[in-house]
Amino acid sequence: MDTVKIAPGFEEIMPKEYQDLVNDGPYGRDLGVKDLGTFKELIEEHPLCAGCSLTLSFRLVIASLPTPEDTLIVTCAGCFGVIHPQISLHCTIAPFGTHNAFASGLKRALKVKFPNKNKDVISMAGDGGFSDIGLAPTLHSWFRRENFTSIMLDNECYANTGGQDSGMTPEGIALNMSPKGKQFPKIQFAEIAKQAGCAYVATVTPTKPRLLGKMARRAILIAREVGPTFIRVATACSTNYKLSAFEGYQKAKSFEPEIGEYFTEEAELYIKEIEKKSPKASSKGEEENED
Ligand code: SF4
Repeated sequence: MDTVKIAPGFEEIMPKEYQDLVNDGPYGRDLGVKDLGTFKELIEEHPLCAGCSLTLSFRLVIASLPTPEDTLIVTCAGCFGVIHPQISLHCTIAPFGTHNAFASGLKRALKVKFPNKNKDVISMAGDGGFSDIGLAPTLHSWFRRENFTSIMLDNECYANTGGQDSGMTPEGIALNMSPKGKQFPKIQFAEIAKQAGCAYVATVTPTKPRLLGKMARRAILIAREVGPTFIRVATACSTNYKLSAFEGYQKAKSFEPEIGEYFTEEAELYIKEIEKKSPKASSKGEEENED
């Protein structure tokens, strides 16, 4: 909180948005997805497409951070890569595809600099960033068991470059820049994450906001002590798939049967212990079955 609070004498001249953030933001408070609408959020007035469910996913993730004041987000090129100025978190953008290599170095440096404090690093990228361009750095960060969380916002295409197919686009789908249709099947990335050494792997949709919040918190807490964690948020790009906002949401909802969690034995014991001591510690009271 010392890093965000306003120095004495400057209260009157700081912008209203900043004053609101200090007085009513989530820093240092136990707030989560269930509290949305009651506090000043960490993101506002972003330039992404209206009704985009990828943007909703991003909003839900950053509303779920256990300690936002001690969280650093690493992203790369992608739709959400252009919203850094609208996020009240420490964030940085890595050259395309290098986000997990960048996050590895950042996490290690923070461990050295702050040995007695949890500094959570989250590497967030789109499906192309993880499954195509950043595949090697991603896999090697998992092979090395780096202690941070990777979150793939899977909208099944390269969206902000006009609609090319990615490794996560389903076979046969034609997009603006790939009119012949995808030539090979969607990559089963959650399976790869398990095999590559992630201690916790989850698939979720933004249509289950409280569950998404719970999984994000579990992933972050497990990454602190046990090992790398991965979440695939199955979402939709309304613009490139030529859907209305409602249809985009319905598409994200159609992925609900894919929702699931995987823990290594060590990760499951660790998170159960935390949740036993403090049932709200990992979920902030988020109930799995509530939309
Ligand atoms: S291009 Fe697609 S993913 Fe990107 S902001 Fe627009 S709707 Fe969302």
